[in-house]
Amino acid sequence: MQLRYDPIKKRWVVFAPERGERGDYLILQKEVEDDPEYCPFCPGHESYTGRSLHEDTGIIDGKKVWLTRVIPNKFPLLKVEETDGIKQYGPYAYSSRLGAHEVIIDSRTHGLKIFDYQMDDFIRLFNAVIVRISDLRKDVRLKYITMIKNCGKVAGATLSHPHSQIVAFPFLPNEVKNIWKNLYEYYYVNNRCLVCDILNFELEKKERIIVKNDFFVAYSPYAPRHSFEVHVVPVIHTNDFIGLKDYEKVKLAEVMIDVLKRYNVALDGASLNINLINTACNIDIPELEFSKYKERFFHWYIELIPRINRIGGIEKGTGVYVNPFLPEKCTEILSGINII
Ligand SMILES: [Zn+2]
Ligand SMILES: [Zn+2]
Repeated sequence: MQLRYDPIKKRWVVFAPERGERGDYLILQKEVEDDPEYCPFCPGHESYTGRSLHEDTGIIDGKKVWLTRVIPNKFPLLKVEETDGIKQYGPYAYSSRLGAHEVIIDSRTHGLKIFDYQMDDFIRLFNAVIVRISDLRKDVRLKYITMIKNCGKVAGATLSHPHSQIVAFPFLPNEVKNIWKNLYEYYYVNNRCLVCDILNFELEKKERIIVKNDFFVAYSPYAPRHSFEVHVVPVIHTNDFIGLKDYEKVKLAEVMIDVLKRYNVALDGASLNINLINTACNIDIPELEFSKYKERFFHWYIELIPRINRIGGIEKGTGVYVNPFLPEKCTEILSGINII
């Protein structure tokens, strides 16, 4: 039993490895695939989803077809058309649902699992994310725009056709604002980026590294809330995903493919969330001197969170998570898998 502190999120996590030995502590659920005949994202069903906001095309059987397309979400959480400001209601506040919510259809192939994505699938996905975030940033009302991916129904996916989401908020979500705040405070004291320092420490210790190349490192964080959580981080300090160069996209895809193949074997294709933790836009955060220092203290990364833990009352009631697997054990399991 050990308590560990996460300096990026500034929170404690309880590690209880004896629970990991009890198989019933983990959810490893097989997915049932949707019928492609009724899938709105399948080729030939474009009329269900309407116009594309972005398309990446290719030639199949001599015909030009889309390979990846971005569409407005049919059931958006947030919409760009909404214009009302924030209103007070007694001690509360409310506003119209200003924002944006788009779907990236990653591939034409119905049922393609994230574990089987090839290099091209990831490159087209990264390009779609960059194009859409860049475009949405022109709307100065939007402050945080990111990509999330729910892989599998336990992770929140409603359709089994491979897809991702772009979500744009008119406010700063607390979870991300806390990360910026913690990184800013570390920078203020040390004059260095915390993520860079963590990366250097991990590369020196070699206890939690899953895979690395010249541009990206995938490692098990020291105090993750979730078993088998992995962070993929650019080696060179950089604060904005949309600045990714073409050769970096290839290197990022290499690392993602490697980790996901390991997950597929170790966790038997369990559901997972993939979250981009990126910089804010169209805003200053004066207490963090954001416009002045964001490029120095913030370092983007991607979180991969397998949805295999049961979340109980301790987590919901106190925000303190119990993790039945130490990250060193997860690293050992993932690294030990032969993926060739
Ligand atoms: Zn489909
Ligand atoms: Zn850094």
